Amino acid sequence: MKVGIVGAGMVGSSAGYALAVMGTVSSVVLVDRNAELAIAQAEDIAHAVPFMSSCVVEAGEYDQLAGASVVILAAGVSQKPGETRLALLERNAAVFRDVVGNVLRVAPDAILLIASNPVDIMTQITVRLSGLPAARVIGSGTILDTARFRSLLGRHLGISPQSVHAYVLGEHGDSEVLAWSNARAGSLSLAGFAAQVGSAITADVRARIDDGVRNAAYKIIKGKGATYYGIGAGLARIVKAIAQDQQEVLTVSMVNREIEGVADVALSIPRVIGAKGIVTDLFPDLDAEESAALHRSAALLKETVEAVSL
Ligand code: ADP
Repeated sequence: MKVGIVGAGMVGSSAGYALAVMGTVSSVVLVDRNAELAIAQAEDIAHAVPFMSSCVVEAGEYDQLAGASVVILAAGVSQKPGETRLALLERNAAVFRDVVGNVLRVAPDAILLIASNPVDIMTQITVRLSGLPAARVIGSGTILDTARFRSLLGRHLGISPQSVHAYVLGEHGDSEVLAWSNARAGSLSLAGFAAQVGSAITADVRARIDDGVRNAAYKIIKGKGATYYGIGAGLARIVKAIAQDQQEVLTVSMVNREIEGVADVALSIPRVIGAKGIVTDLFPDLDAEESAALHRSAALLKETVEAVSL
């Protein structure tokens, strides 16, 4: 399977590297308006390939995306320290006007996988710009927030993140919702598991984990200027679900007809992903507080997307 990546900056190249490491696709093509950067990133990633897989990694023009099954859109301007994701919107919407038309001209059947922030808004803008069915325009959404939530819960409980089933819903950003009420460890409720291993989830623990998930990106950006390895791996995980038609449940963003009473808005809930893109939406059981928080997150995103003129 061929995967295109438009935007060979930190996020796009990290996704390319993760795809090459995982070896689930046969070809990766990097495109960037800075051709020299795309060539350099592709060469660097290609030199890692002999140590781990047989993926062909190249740089190219848009024409080389012909035949791509998935195109990752990671082009844009990066988040500066202190800048909110929503403040990036106007700058990145302009970039997407250029990119989406160029991609669809050569790869009209591709699934578009959106990585640029603010990702929920960019996902909705891409549906508007492309006219594609919503299920073929997937935003990376809270895939990484969910991974962070599982990782922190797993560390507290002394188990692998893969044994924790917990989801972060809504906006990939400040208004996201950690769904504590339906989180499980192994086959047990969180409280039941925590009691058995003697690691109670106190109010303090909960606040620390909430902060660790919600503010992870801000902390990483403060220390190193950008976040990319985590999201690169998350994007490669979504591509793997598509490439192998895995029917995997992942929290990704998509334009929904209605969420918590808010119509036509893109945000993350758990969804089943396979070869055709998003196959099924899974509306989680939430308590009243979480439902209200998800409504607020949806309403905020809706308000923002309505402000964008295309
Ligand atoms: P991030 O950390 O989100 O990856 P970067 O700034 O490292 O941010 O990467 C964004 C990339 O998107 C840059 O390499 C930039 O050249 C590219 N880019 C910006 N605008 C366009 C465009 N219109 N077409 C193609 N690539 C673009």
